[in-house]
Amino acid sequence: GSTIGIIGGGQLGRMLSVAAAQLGYACHIYAPDEAPCAADVAARHVRGDYADTAALREFAESADIVTYEFENIPAAGLHALAGQVSLRPNAEALELAQDRLSEKDYIVSHGGTPAGYRSVSSLDELRAALDDLGTPSILKTRRFGYDGKGQVRLTADSDPAAAWAEIGEQPSVLESFMNFDKEFSILLARALDGSIRIWDAPDNHHVDGILAQSIAPGTGIIAEQKAAAGKLASTVAEALGYVGVLTLEFFASADGPVFNEMAPRVHNSGHWTIEGAVTSQFENHIRAVCGLPLGDTALTAPRVEMQNLIGAAANDWPRWLKKDRAHLHLYNKGEARPGRKMGHVTQLF
Ligand code: ATP
Ligand code: MG
Ligand code: MG
Repeated sequence: GSTIGIIGGGQLGRMLSVAAAQLGYACHIYAPDEAPCAADVAARHVRGDYADTAALREFAESADIVTYEFENIPAAGLHALAGQVSLRPNAEALELAQDRLSEKDYIVSHGGTPAGYRSVSSLDELRAALDDLGTPSILKTRRFGYDGKGQVRLTADSDPAAAWAEIGEQPSVLESFMNFDKEFSILLARALDGSIRIWDAPDNHHVDGILAQSIAPGTGIIAEQKAAAGKLASTVAEALGYVGVLTLEFFASADGPVFNEMAPRVHNSGHWTIEGAVTSQFENHIRAVCGLPLGDTALTAPRVEMQNLIGAAANDWPRWLKKDRAHLHLYNKGEARPGRKMGHVTQLF
């Protein structure tokens, strides 16, 4: 078999490596950590900084194909790799998704609808954006945000100067706060030959800005809006020449699906596909980047629930082993710090 290089060493890289191994591929992990959890199950770990272009290039020499599970690889390294090896998904997709502003502009230009937004690069621009959009609204950094970090919520009583300081005076976007009915995501896989498969859209529940639970299939308003959202995701994947799994997050609102953000990778809201779909997001990502045909994305049960084990909630993991049709996944990340994703459970109903 061939070797797949994966940039990033977290649980997504771990689950990708397991799927790759089943298909006879060996994975090499590139990550700065001493013992990234993906390295447990991979053939090799190369320790290096994401900003070290020379080290990334050397890593790529040992791989037939390179993919990524970490989004904040500096553009210079990314483009150096793209000129050297088959990088899938491509550098353009990753660069686009690294920046909330360019991502929203791109979605608008392809017919999608984000919540109202304004670019904010100074306190004056924040004041002007607040005049335009009003409150409640959310100020989000353009780059590096995840699990609700790098966000400040604003109400009529908020002090813009305090919010600007809290966000670290970084280039940001102000977004209107949506009164949505439900949140869902579109998980799509696009193969090298351009064929596309989409999983049933899960209903996603967040607690403190972190995904807590995904239930598939999403029902009610999600079932009504998933076709339009899936069409947008397909349009975007085609426009980008995308290969691999692409995720788009949406709010289901009375006016239709509202785009929240995209991730050019496998996604936490798709973990249920390991047991809950005929082919998992991890396997289809590996199939796609290796130029293989995609597998069936149909559900394996009428209802599938994925629950994250976050922080101390992971400590009583043995209880899940007593439940029939519950599948426990632990990421071997060590200390169960608050807010840290330690594992997940998927239950079939
Ligand atoms: P992720 O871990 O998904 O990458 P993130 O840090 O990029 O998270 P977002 O997806 O932008 O953050 O926001 C996290 C959650 O906060 C959303 O899933 C949603 O529940 C809520 N949220 C974000 N933006 C809005 C909005 N404009 N209106 C209402 N709720 C919002
Ligand atoms: Mg995000
Ligand atoms: Mg999100």
